[in-house]
Amino acid sequence: MSDLVLTYAEAANVIRQHAKALLGHMPTAEQVPLLASLNRVLAQPVLADRDQPPFPRSTRDGFACRAKDIGATTPLKVIGQLRAGETWKGSPLEAGQAIEIMTGAPVPSGADCVVMVEHVKLHENFLHFDPAYTIKAGENIVPAGAEAKSGAAIVSAGTRIAASHVAAAAACGYSTVSVYARPRVAILATGDELVPVDQTPLTHQIRNSNSYSLAAQITLAGALPVILPVAPDDPAEIESSIRRAADCDLLLLSGGVSMGKYDFVEQALLALGAEFFFTGAKIQPGRPVVFGRLPQQFFFGLPGNPVSTMVTFLLFTQPLIAALSGEENGGPRFALAQLAHDLPVKPGLTRFLPGRIDFNIHTPQATIIPWQGSGDLASTASANGFVVTPADAGDLSAGDSVSVLLV
Ligand code: AMP
Ligand code: MG
Repeated sequence: MSDLVLTYAEAANVIRQHAKALLGHMPTAEQVPLLASLNRVLAQPVLADRDQPPFPRSTRDGFACRAKDIGATTPLKVIGQLRAGETWKGSPLEAGQAIEIMTGAPVPSGADCVVMVEHVKLHENFLHFDPAYTIKAGENIVPAGAEAKSGAAIVSAGTRIAASHVAAAAACGYSTVSVYARPRVAILATGDELVPVDQTPLTHQIRNSNSYSLAAQITLAGALPVILPVAPDDPAEIESSIRRAADCDLLLLSGGVSMGKYDFVEQALLALGAEFFFTGAKIQPGRPVVFGRLPQQFFFGLPGNPVSTMVTFLLFTQPLIAALSGEENGGPRFALAQLAHDLPVKPGLTRFLPGRIDFNIHTPQATIIPWQGSGDLASTASANGFVVTPADAGDLSAGDSVSVLLV
């Protein structure tokens, strides 16, 4: 079969196109308790059930009054007090009057501003102002409906639900929300050398870590991992394992996609009627990555080297899972950081180098972690991002701005 090796940008674009097409066919929806919706994708928008705020809300502790009364030489008379949870029962505020008010209380009619308690002196029920003090009408008041009008969508469908969305839904009276079903993602590790994690490997054997890293990444991506038994490097066995994934929405294979004599994954996929969108990307780690579609589902052939598996998942698989989940604009996620040191760059491939990014400072600083290449899980375990060096980049210097792929 012909080689379809794309640049990183081309491969990312292929994924984006398929993700976009998938968003035209939304998954089924289900109703779940509000807190169970965290990290799920919203299927029905959260609508404001009334104006937000529902009344003109004081944003400060202070005194509600009329802006034009301030600066007059006569002090204002305080005629009452209003706490959050109360509403003013007296007649509308008149010229020369003020009402003591707490944050979150409804501003009484007649008042058009709230003077912060710090700016007044209260003397026997009269408010005195510094002659230089001024305030504009509207200050320290959020008008009714200024944040959202009744019926407006506060959180739109297709949003991955974060804490702020839970808060917005709670404020609008949603004890349950409608979310899309999570896609089921099959994991099929291949390789004669693999043994299960609870088995002691012989010297020449390797524990199957990829089924675990992928299951963890799938879970973080908000989908449901389905781990299949490991398949040996045998085309017929791989074929029959792939058939077992028929009821899943996506199939991830690991290993067996390089140029080696016993790399049979593409052959097995082809025999099952696969269409290939790319069979390699000019990236490191992860060059042999494969993406395509079987009659039942999309699939990725991810390279077996553990760091390649994880990086290609972040770059290509996670955005497709997002689309299968109904999420709009679902990644991958990049941020800018400043290189903490010089970095010689080998051009030709887009590289994703394990890095330690200090995000605790205003301009994040990236330090590359020395590594032995794409099999080096130990280095990746101490990385919290991958520094991107473009295929056409020259050597980089300390202080240069670099893009970082977030994990
Ligand atoms: P492959 O892509 O099959 O050529 O494998 C490349 C490298 O990744 C080899 O060193 C494999 O032993 C290793 N590898 C393959 N699959 C796994 C796995 N499931 N867990 C850990 N390492 C793996
Ligand atoms: Mg292999």
